[in-house]
Amino acid sequence: MDKPVLPAARLSCPQCNNALEIGEDVERFARARCGTEYVVNRAGGIITLTPAAELLQKESAEEAARRRLAYQVDQLEKDIETEMNRYVAGMPAYQRLRFDYARLGKINFIFVGIVNEKSLQDAFRSLTIADVDRLIEYYSRNPDSPTGDYLKRLRGLMAALKEKREQLGTR
Ligand SMILES: [Zn+2]
Repeated sequence: MDKPVLPAARLSCPQCNNALEIGEDVERFARARCGTEYVVNRAGGIITLTPAAELLQKESAEEAARRRLAYQVDQLEKDIETEMNRYVAGMPAYQRLRFDYARLGKINFIFVGIVNEKSLQDAFRSLTIADVDRLIEYYSRNPDSPTGDYLKRLRGLMAALKEKREQLGTR
C-alpha cells in the first residue's frame, strides 16, 4: 500500500527508517542503504513511496484476473455453441427455432421450410438477448413447451457472457 510521507526534505525510508531526499524529477530509485526500490507518486502535492515489488505484484494479480475472465468468456462461448446443437423436442435447437427466426424477421416465413443448415446456424448465432426475451415472452403463452425452458437457459448463458465481456473490456 502507498504510505503517505512528509515532503521531500523530511522523508525517511519506510523500510529502514533512514533519512532520504528525493530530487524533484525522480520517479523511481533504489536505496543504496537498504536495497529497497521505490516508485515515487506525487498526486495532489503529497509525495508517497510505493515499493516497486508491490507494484509488480499488483500488476500480475490484475493480469491473472484478466486471464481468468478471458477463460470464462471462452467457456461461455463454447457453452452457447453447445446449446445451439442441444436437442429440444427431437431436433437441434438451431433447427427447432426456425419459426422463431421468422418471428424475429431474421428469415422470411416463406422460406422457413427450405432454408439451409448454415442459414439456420447463422440465425441462431445472430440472436441477441433482446431477441431471446421476445421469444421467452412469446412462449410464456405456452408454458408446457420445452422451447420456453430452453430459451431461459440460453438467456442465462448469454447474459453471463455479456457481463464477462464487459468486465474484460474495462480491464
Ligand atoms: Zn531504506
